[in-house]
Amino acid sequence: MQMPTDYPDPAALAAVEDELRALPPLVFAGEARRLTAKLAQVEAGDAFLLQGGDCAESFKEFSTDNIRDTFRLILQMAVVLTFAGRKPVVKVGRIAGQFAKPRSSGIEEIDGVTLPSYRGDNINGSAFTTEERVPDPQRLLRAYNQSASTLNLLRAFAGGGYADLYNIHRWTLGFADNGAGAQYRELAEKITEALAFMEAVGVTPETHPDLSRVEVFTSHEALLLNVESALTRLDGGSGEWFDTSAHMLWIGERTRQLDGAHVEFMRGIRNPIGVKCGPTMEPDDLLPLIDALNPDNIPGRLTLIGRFGHDKVGDRLPRLMKAVKAAGKRVIWSIDPMHGNTLKAGNGYKTRPFDRILGEVKTFIDVAESEGVHPGGVHLEMTGQNVTECLGGAQAVTEDDLSSRYHTHCDPRLNADQALELAFLVAERLKS
Ligand code: PEP
Ligand code: MN
Repeated sequence: MQMPTDYPDPAALAAVEDELRALPPLVFAGEARRLTAKLAQVEAGDAFLLQGGDCAESFKEFSTDNIRDTFRLILQMAVVLTFAGRKPVVKVGRIAGQFAKPRSSGIEEIDGVTLPSYRGDNINGSAFTTEERVPDPQRLLRAYNQSASTLNLLRAFAGGGYADLYNIHRWTLGFADNGAGAQYRELAEKITEALAFMEAVGVTPETHPDLSRVEVFTSHEALLLNVESALTRLDGGSGEWFDTSAHMLWIGERTRQLDGAHVEFMRGIRNPIGVKCGPTMEPDDLLPLIDALNPDNIPGRLTLIGRFGHDKVGDRLPRLMKAVKAAGKRVIWSIDPMHGNTLKAGNGYKTRPFDRILGEVKTFIDVAESEGVHPGGVHLEMTGQNVTECLGGAQAVTEDDLSSRYHTHCDPRLNADQALELAFLVAERLKS
């Protein structure tokens, strides 16, 4: 049900799959292994995972500025979390491949007209017309190419000077003067002072290159198994299989069945992987999944991404954390405070209230603390753009504001101010 079966020309799809099989990998096995090693530090409680980006990337919103702004937001949030938490932050974008969307219904009805649902720009088009909703295999190639350009730009930003901590003031452009923006500028000032001090005692980018570069990893939901398989390659050195479409892949809430094809595929690849854990999941569902996906109990291999809803997390999470801990499973616990907190505003817009998002994160940290588990990370839908998709935050986005800059191709994202505000509030909690 989550994989499209209505391609009008199956032979054309098969030809595209062959073409994908012959195209270069987007990431390399060694990079995915390095991410597993970094995530092992998170599992050990010595680092924090920041995973975020669009709900769905799109062809229309593909631009240098959008990529730069998302990258910059990840950097800013990481700085806030590192400074407060005194721990390294592992940075993973929902980017360079996050196109395909699982849907709760295969059809969409508007004013008595019924069409197949939009499934992401790599499958069909979002406009509500018969033509647009027909799956087109050429879209898979366009998405591959867009992912390659996006990744190329990310690598250049990460290693080519943009991420230099000495540039920290330049990253502040674009924020509001009050709220999190002002707080960020203060923090940037402190870091600049610290850098000047360190330079005086001989710690410079020449002696410590990591002051001037970062490593950013990519991730997306492994939904389209035909595409993921086509980009899965044998690593010659180790004889292991890696899905080279991204460093990290996750299994969505709708496709995590123990005997399902998605779990079967993920068992076979050696990338670090995630599993979404929703409000209906019981310990008896989770433990066998962990055994299937990480039979050797390798730290850093498996991230559990809770997405319960602000009103359910306090009830559902403790039993899962307890069971996993009691069974001695080495996993990372992260929280996705977006997908359990979606609602329809009075004017029909799909939105998420910022205070509920924050509420789920806070309860996650509370529960982790009382269970003696490291609250390892956050998984967010966010953008560096100044959109109005989620309600609230310091800039107080209201229902009436939603229509003014609502650009998402699927779920509502935090805007840059809201995301930074969330980072400050999480940082506060991690410090205490
Ligand atoms: C998503 O991450 O965009 C998503 C669809 O999440 P979930 O599988 O948790 O519903
Ligand atoms: Mn989403």
